[in-house]
Amino acid sequence: MALLPVSVALQRILENATTLNAETVDLLHAHGRTLASPVISKVDNPPFDASAMDGYAVRADDIASVPATLNVVGESGAGHPFDGSLGKSEAVRIFTGGRVPDDADAVVIQENTTASGPTVTVLETAKCGANIRPKGQDFAKDERLIERGRLLTARDVLISASCGYGELSVVRKPVVAILSSGDELVTPGKPLALGQISGSNAYGLASVVEMAGGKAHFLGIARDSLASLEEFISAADDADVLVTSGGASVGDHDLVRPALENAGAKLDFYKIAMRPGKPLFFGSRHVGGKLQYCLGLPGNPVAAMICARVFLVPLIGRLLGLEKPFQAIDAALTGPVPANGPREHYMRGLLDVSTSPARVTPFTNQDSGLVKSLQRANCLVVIPADAPSLHAGTTVKVLRLDI
Ligand code: AMP
Ligand code: MG
Repeated sequence: MALLPVSVALQRILENATTLNAETVDLLHAHGRTLASPVISKVDNPPFDASAMDGYAVRADDIASVPATLNVVGESGAGHPFDGSLGKSEAVRIFTGGRVPDDADAVVIQENTTASGPTVTVLETAKCGANIRPKGQDFAKDERLIERGRLLTARDVLISASCGYGELSVVRKPVVAILSSGDELVTPGKPLALGQISGSNAYGLASVVEMAGGKAHFLGIARDSLASLEEFISAADDADVLVTSGGASVGDHDLVRPALENAGAKLDFYKIAMRPGKPLFFGSRHVGGKLQYCLGLPGNPVAAMICARVFLVPLIGRLLGLEKPFQAIDAALTGPVPANGPREHYMRGLLDVSTSPARVTPFTNQDSGLVKSLQRANCLVVIPADAPSLHAGTTVKVLRLDI
């Protein structure tokens, strides 16, 4: 079977995936969620003409020539507006955030005045509008402030609170069930008998899922038997996505595909033209009243994490309806890269975005057994299939690992 290009495989994974339903969350829990309905301001901001400084609200005409002495007729503090309007040669003591009284049209800063009993002498003129933040200057009622599909930042949460929302409609987090498989795998932290290794993939993958905006659900470590795999798979019925690692190739102990098929999955087995990560499959099954996507990742931890970045992260982005999924960026190579073979190569490397254009340095040793080089990397450098040798300065696509 011909190897499938990565872009085609990704397209097949994404083509049926649509945005999940919305749910309402308190603003305190909105950060990092994806907005499901636009934020449309319910108020003008500021809601009234407000003073930007501590000083005196005046009529600019009254202080056209200075010094000018005015009668102080009241006070307007934040949350304590002056109840009245300003007559000729009158001033109101005002504080930052205080409402500017009717008929006042400037605020003179305190530093430009001297107060004496019931009067204040203004020493500097002020233009009409000086030190006043007019009603609606920042944003107006009914203004669209944030579009749906936005991954909410701290600033988005702040403005949502400013414009009258106590809660937001966000897309439900995709639940991603994660299943490890292999007789050699031991729960991390437990001592290893001869021939055993720590089952690390689930922990890295769960972190990737959470980072991408999903909710990870670790099912456990299945043994290399159909019965064990099927038992674990049956605990995944509620998930939107089922991710397995290991047992994905064609060895005698690679039983994940048949186990998934027994559980009702229809599989497209993709041998992908990708390095690392050739044995990867994708399919789906109807379970728990919905379509569940099944992604079979290789067991090799480096390959599993790289394939998760390439295929699982965009799938989660699609289920969230993200306006800007975690796409590749351009960067210039800092040194040469040798010619590539027929599989697209995802090279671990270091991206430096402090320069323009950003620069990227792939590591020299790309052995897929080196978990440490994955840990040290902050990106994947995408070298197209059959690319000729590339010289320093060539623009390449780069996937950030920390999204
Ligand atoms: P497999 O795809 O099952 O043949 O696994 C390929 C390699 O990845 C083998 O060396 C496995 O021991 C290793 N491997 C499989 N699953 C995991 C895991 N969850 N954590 C760490 N290594 C794994
Ligand atoms: Mg195995």
